[in-house]
Amino acid sequence: MTQRNAISIGEAVQRVMSNIEKGISEKVPLIEASGRYLAEDIVANQDVPAFDRSLYDGYAIRSEDTVNATAATPVELEVIGHIGAGTVFHNELKPFQAVRIMTGAEMPEGCNAVVMLEYVQELTKSDKNCIFVDRYIRENEHVFKKGQEIPEGTYLVESGTRITPGIIGLLATFGYSELLVGKKPVVGVLATGSELLEIDEPLVPGKIRNSNSYMLMSQIERVGAQPKHLGKLEDNLEKSFEVIQHELQDVDILITTGGVSVGDYDYLPEIYERLGATVLFNKIAMRPGSVTTVAKLENQFLFGLSGNPSASFIGFELFVRPVIRTMLENKKPYLTSQKAILADCYPVPNAFAQLIRTKIENRDSNIYVTSNGLNMSSSITSLVGADALVVLPPTETGYEKGEIVDILLLSDEGQEIFFVI
Ligand code: AMP
Ligand code: MG
Repeated sequence: MTQRNAISIGEAVQRVMSNIEKGISEKVPLIEASGRYLAEDIVANQDVPAFDRSLYDGYAIRSEDTVNATAATPVELEVIGHIGAGTVFHNELKPFQAVRIMTGAEMPEGCNAVVMLEYVQELTKSDKNCIFVDRYIRENEHVFKKGQEIPEGTYLVESGTRITPGIIGLLATFGYSELLVGKKPVVGVLATGSELLEIDEPLVPGKIRNSNSYMLMSQIERVGAQPKHLGKLEDNLEKSFEVIQHELQDVDILITTGGVSVGDYDYLPEIYERLGATVLFNKIAMRPGSVTTVAKLENQFLFGLSGNPSASFIGFELFVRPVIRTMLENKKPYLTSQKAILADCYPVPNAFAQLIRTKIENRDSNIYVTSNGLNMSSSITSLVGADALVVLPPTETGYEKGEIVDILLLSDEGQEIFFVI
């Protein structure tokens, strides 16, 4: 039997990350790019705005004409035209002339300020329209200058950034109808275990439903890759070897759950050997998921996660997630970490690091973490509504309530109450 040496979580992450291959990119229409990861740096190919624009409905004027305007001595300007957004005024303004202008329209030549409709007196005199301005309007007042928001050449979005609605709007502004994005790695999910039923099969004695495959496919989708459901395998070495060897032809990454421990029917270690895969590690000093194994076969990763649902979930978030995100060129591949205060005690010494599913609570400007149900590797309920994983390093004394610990955030679902205004 293969020798197992438990390594730390940090060492395991490091071994995985130093074995990543570069991802592939593909062009997609902007309309399909939402939620994908940019595979190119984007630089502004024009000024925004592309021309001086009016910020309000009002009159485009020459600031210098209003230098002496006061409430007692308003200045009279002749209105020589009218433009809305999308149209252009072609004549140049002479002194003491104005053009009625709507929000977003291009400033006429010779104008350098806008006075809002609300601040002028309008008057029609026989054959001409006039306005009276009763104060000095500074140069550029209510004008959004060419390039004021983004000058041409500005670095806009970095490769590896997740494409959000704001980015879609920005890139549409610049006329990007297609984007280069990271091609979603295809991640096969294969469950092992003779006890497994399909999810639509009725329970029979001794059997359980294959819940891991569905959970993992959902996790794969959430991090931005393409899940491939490969079904389940009985604990049969020859058959499993054949199926795994075959399925490896069509996936970028293969995740298996179960069969990776030292039990009588745990065949994954032998399968890695037969495949000629290099095992990066096969034991981690962590609970749950100490049996988590990662192997590499040429440029493919094989993640052997534990069959226990919580262990499988955590194994994915710690080791598979950063691989996928890095393949997508994302520069922030890991779960966000922060400090929090323990609201429960964990008194039992443990030679392994513990990862505890918790709920976050904001109290008195502090973040507290409370255990989210059964803290067992077989538990599935503790994953539901878990906001964070608390990371407790190995301990000889256990942990007290009130101790400050590191947590890894799992979700950002928003909050129940609107913030106070
Ligand atoms: P194993 O890692 O194969 O020793 O499995 C550990 C535990 O996880 C056992 O109790 C299995 O019955 C359970 N298990 C294995 N695979 C799955 C699965 N796909 N869905 C839910 N539970 C599973
Ligand atoms: Mg098993």
